[in-house]
Amino acid sequence: MTEELELLATSCRRFFLHECAPHYDRWEKQGCVDREIWTKAGTAGLLCAAMPEEYGGAGGTFAHDAVIALEANRAGIAGLGIPLHNAIVAPYILNYGSQEQKQRWLPKLATGEFIGAIAMTEPAAGSDLQGIRTTAKRSGNCYVLSGQKTFITNGQLGNLIIVVAKTDSTLGAKGISLFVVETDGLDSFRRGRNLDKIGLKANDTSELFFDDAKIPAASLLGTEEGQGFYMLMDQLPQERLLIALHAVGRIDRALAVTLDYVKSRSAFGKPIIEFQNTQFELAECKTEATIGRVFVDYCISRHLDKKLDTTTASMAKYWLTDLQCRIIDRCLQLHGGYGYMNEYPIARMFRDARVERIYGGTNEIMKLLIARSL
Ligand SMILES: Cc1cc2nc3c(=O)[nH]c(=O)nc-3n(C[C@H](O)[C@H](O)[C@H](O)COP(=O)(O)OP(=O)(O)OC[C@H]3O[C@@H](n4cnc5c(N)ncnc54)[C@H](O)[C@@H]3O)c2cc1C
Repeated sequence: MTEELELLATSCRRFFLHECAPHYDRWEKQGCVDREIWTKAGTAGLLCAAMPEEYGGAGGTFAHDAVIALEANRAGIAGLGIPLHNAIVAPYILNYGSQEQKQRWLPKLATGEFIGAIAMTEPAAGSDLQGIRTTAKRSGNCYVLSGQKTFITNGQLGNLIIVVAKTDSTLGAKGISLFVVETDGLDSFRRGRNLDKIGLKANDTSELFFDDAKIPAASLLGTEEGQGFYMLMDQLPQERLLIALHAVGRIDRALAVTLDYVKSRSAFGKPIIEFQNTQFELAECKTEATIGRVFVDYCISRHLDKKLDTTTASMAKYWLTDLQCRIIDRCLQLHGGYGYMNEYPIARMFRDARVERIYGGTNEIMKLLIARSL
């Protein structure tokens, strides 16, 4: 942390506490955050902080995105898809976009006029990304996009969506390309259901349909077709590190709310913090949390030096998200029956945490990647 990052953390805490927390129950009920929170986040400097100033960003680094993701999760604002927008969607455009593309899309991502999403997963292809069926066929100055995506974060509100599609179905990985699709006013594009999930209820995780949607040829990311799979592989370490950071932020929150609870709740005539079991449970959780935090800090510095490899990022994603679920489960137990009640933050955290072991590559896929390096 630097002084500048500490200041950013303070303004994040203020933003999440004042602008998001009061609305969060309502957002969960409506299955979506309010549209205007995105523009407010843009005004508060929480969008594209790591993008260069010439494209509307704050000229920061991944450390800025890390602070924002950590603070969002420490504040319990897990369903607002800002980390994905900042640290997954925008970097594709910055790293692979032409000058024209960067100028067209990044400034509006920074203000919240565009909300980013990335659409890889399909009903029949998740872990096995090469099995996608969505196609993009060149037709004059356009591509014709056909296919169905599912489980897409920011799927109802997102209006700048990176779509993974096959430009040549005979070429395997080399036939996959990425397209940046502006969806406002796009004919033959439909949003399907806002999916009913067990957690992360404030996020509009959705189905998307492209029924021969015509998009400009200039939507293709990269210098030619067929570069998509390599871009995805290149960006995945950052995506995985980001998910590990979510876990760290949530572990901090779980310990904080549990510590408050066990100090205020009494049984057998004394606060439950005074039972040795409570102390040992929390001592173990805090120790593991510290180990996790140190590992994530190491990964962040490696990443800032451009040295974070896929294997280490996969370890961080798998280990931290598993740890998060274990710690939240133990914290919930210390709440007794109240931990099972949705009005207590630990209950929501229990529901929200589960998906972290599934998305961004399942933890089984992480282990496969680690095993490949042995
Ligand atoms: C809330 C939520 C948000 C999401 N957001 C996005 C998003 O924004 N964009 C997007 O594109 N996707 C998103 N996803 C999709 C997510 O990335 C996929 O669900 C995930 O990659 C797993 O794919 P799948 O669901 O098809 O499971 P499958 O691939 O069918 O896997 C089923 C099971 O088989 C296991 N398995 C699969 N292959 C192997 C193997 N080779 N060896 C061992 N085990 C294996 C898996 O680990 C898993 O346990 C989201 C999902 C959820 C739930």
